[in-house]
Amino acid sequence: MRTIGITGGIGSGKTALTDYLAKKGITIVDADLAARVIVEPGRPALNAIFEHFGPKLAQDDGSLDRAALRSIVFANPEARLWLEQLTHPLIGQEIQDQLARAAGPYRVLSSPLLLEGSQAALVDYVVVVDVPEALQVERASARDNNDPEQIKRIMAAQLARNDRLARADYVVDNSGGLDELYAQSELLHSHLLNLV
Ligand code: ATP
Repeated sequence: MRTIGITGGIGSGKTALTDYLAKKGITIVDADLAARVIVEPGRPALNAIFEHFGPKLAQDDGSLDRAALRSIVFANPEARLWLEQLTHPLIGQEIQDQLARAAGPYRVLSSPLLLEGSQAALVDYVVVVDVPEALQVERASARDNNDPEQIKRIMAAQLARNDRLARADYVVDNSGGLDELYAQSELLHSHLLNLV
């Protein structure tokens, strides 16, 4: 079974596209969700984080205070490196486990950082969801009720638009409305069915 990578910067429309494909019965493995699963209560990574940074990172129900962890690693590169060395291999394993359980004509790995790190090795074909940067900022800040400057900082840590496009096997242009995105999603789905 082919594994299709879907990527695009923050707010580009990956989730809108993959929700459409999920309705067609395609298994979507979402790298951001995998990153959350591996720090759920009961998972070894969570205990390691509490041991390293202290129990202050635990919320009352025992789950991870993600915002507090984010602010620690944002301010401290060493802490960030430690956390990445712990979590990246576990996220990679979780993604591979989820992909291995998928059935269907093809399966999808959706990841904002597909091309930035080692996840690219897990996919056979790369689909990029592309929008102009200004639209990315507008949609992502409206969705998250977030400061546009914060969105721009996240974009700066992701591949530049042209570098991402240069690595695409297929580009979905999401600069139009949602109806146009869904029309393109249908075309993409047919194309991917014919690839297998
Ligand atoms: P992230 O990497 O941040 O998770 P994403 O690539 O998954 O982002 P979405 O969440 O799918 O992006 O889209 C960002 C926001 O823009 C959402 O609120 C979504 O509903 C909206 N959106 C996506 N595509 C369109 C479109 N063509 N027209 C209008 N709004 C759109």
